[in-house]
Parts: sequence; structure tokens; C-alpha cells
Amino acid sequence: MDDCLFCKIAAGQIPANKLFEDEQILAFYDIDPQAPVHFLVIPKKHIPSAACLTEQEGALLARIYAVIARLCRELGCENGYRVVTNVGADGGQSVPHLHFHVLAKRSLAWPPG
Ligand code: AMP
Ligand code: ZN
Repeated sequence: MDDCLFCKIAAGQIPANKLFEDEQILAFYDIDPQAPVHFLVIPKKHIPSAACLTEQEGALLARIYAVIARLCRELGCENGYRVVTNVGADGGQSVPHLHFHVLAKRSLAWPPG
């Protein structure tokens, strides 16, 4: 999608510090980390947010969570991690392209602010 930051990162038009990439998915470090490990996982295709998901995306989501589990193992996040996807203004979403935050290597408060 034109003018979408994460579509441009997925297309290689804007650089990112990548951890993993395949035909469908990209994982890259967040530019403003909120934990010692903080990366984002996105589908390469433009989906505005989790509010737009249908059962059609079931396999894509399973793949995203499997990639997250593998990356967290590789990064030594054996104490655990948090996966968050913000939706809309009240959810705190600032980039309207579906993304999963993965935060680890510190104790994370609950409930979030
Ligand atoms: P959200 O506020 O949930 O939509 O999350 C968007 C995230 O994207 C924020 O944590 C930003 O720090 C991050 N972000 C924005 N621009 C970039 C970029 N160019 N590279 C990596 N992360 C980014
Ligand atoms: Zn996009």
C-alpha cells in the first residue's frame, strides 16, 4: 500500500534492523525499544490491524507465532516474553499496518497502561 511505513519496510524501501524474513513475514527491531529485547513481526501484505483479520489469515497468524517462538528461543528469552498487537486509537496503535510487538528480558507490568 502506498504511503504505509511498514509496507515500505517490507518492500525494502526503508531500512530496518531485520531478524527474520520470508515471503510472507518480516521481523525487525523496534526503533524505540521499550524492553532490552523489542522487535516487531509483520505480515508483508497490508492488513490495517487485528480488527481486519478473518479466518482466511489463520495460517499466516500461526506462522507469525511460530516465528516469534523460534526467535525468542534464539535470543535466549527463556524467562518469557510478551506479544502485543495494538488496535486503533484507544489501543495505542500508531502505525496502521498489522504488527506484533515482542518484548522480553525484563519483568513486564500487568495490566499495561
Ligand atoms: P504501535 O504504536 O503499536 O502502532 O507500534 C508502532 C511501533 O513501530 C512503535 O513501537 C515504533 O517505535 C515502531 N516504529 C516506528 N517506525 C519504525 C521504524 N522505521 N523502524 C522500526 N520500528 C519503528
Ligand atoms: Zn502497510
